[in-house]
Amino acid sequence: MLQQTTVATVAPYFDRFVARWPDISALAAASLQEILQLWQGLGYYARARNLHACARAVVERHGGALPADPAALRALPGIGDYTAAAIAAIGFDRPVAAIDGNVERVISRIYAVSEPLPAAKPRLKALASALVPQQRPGDFAQALMDLGATICTPRQPRCVLCPWRRCCMAAARGLADTLPAAAAKPERPLRHGVAFWLTRPDGAVLLRRRPENGLLGGMTEFPSTPWRSEPWALEEAIEIAPAAADWVALPGTVRHGFTHFRLELAIVAGRGEVDGMWSKIDRLGEHALPTLMKKVASHSVSALSAYGGPAVGEPGSGSRNSGRNASPLIAKRTGAKDRR
Ligand code: SF4
Repeated sequence: MLQQTTVATVAPYFDRFVARWPDISALAAASLQEILQLWQGLGYYARARNLHACARAVVERHGGALPADPAALRALPGIGDYTAAAIAAIGFDRPVAAIDGNVERVISRIYAVSEPLPAAKPRLKALASALVPQQRPGDFAQALMDLGATICTPRQPRCVLCPWRRCCMAAARGLADTLPAAAAKPERPLRHGVAFWLTRPDGAVLLRRRPENGLLGGMTEFPSTPWRSEPWALEEAIEIAPAAADWVALPGTVRHGFTHFRLELAIVAGRGEVDGMWSKIDRLGEHALPTLMKKVASHSVSALSAYGGPAVGEPGSGSRNSGRNASPLIAKRTGAKDRR
């Protein structure tokens, strides 16, 4: 949970998790959907899938107890070099270096490593590994992490309080604030998509489940076009709508940032019925909706209520482009009524 996420954000999630699944065997017996539901809002959902797969692998391969060996830990789903080393060092007192961003920063400053990250990683790892003591390596790992988190901070490190000040080359040379050097990051590309907000006469909205593998795998979403680099024309998007309806483009877009790209989702709303997963709007919280889809729901509900509520797109409602509900929205017919 703590990968890419602060302790303050994680704490309530962690408490809920361990209250519901107090040990690895209980977690292994849970369904992925249950786990994704409790994970909602924490982001980086691959971690939840990996956690579940890892619990199952630990039960199958190791009888429900985590192994102490870093290589055996590394072979489990979702456990990379850092996590394997941290578990081995802190949980089992194995003399291995657990190197996260905090530790890289401390080591790059102690040795005044000017080579930028990520190219400097192998060197920083070698330098950190050489420092690991045979006595109490778990305490050493935690001390180094805490030093990076509380004293040797990214900006304005508090060198006067640092126990390593006398041997720190960056402090001696006045370079602490400038290290570690980072290579310039390219801007994340922008992708575009169109989400379909389809409602039934009873007010339920259409959902679907994403494939288990890949981005937001196994999560629930509102149907959408693929996300691609070129913007979608409305007619083109409607060609692959989940149902035939008088689709109406809602004003504005939903923006969301993923690790490797930014996304702009336009939303079209319509009314219709089709086989699938439906939910009342006030019960969407019972589904494993990622933050992006919560934004889509909130945007759609507020845009539609400004526009005239559930009458949008309803045949005979007079709500499209004319009458008392005339609005800046654009209405388009699907031309694909045989798709129902
Ligand atoms: S002396 Fe300053 S720069 Fe060096 S490790 Fe300590 S806090 Fe970091």
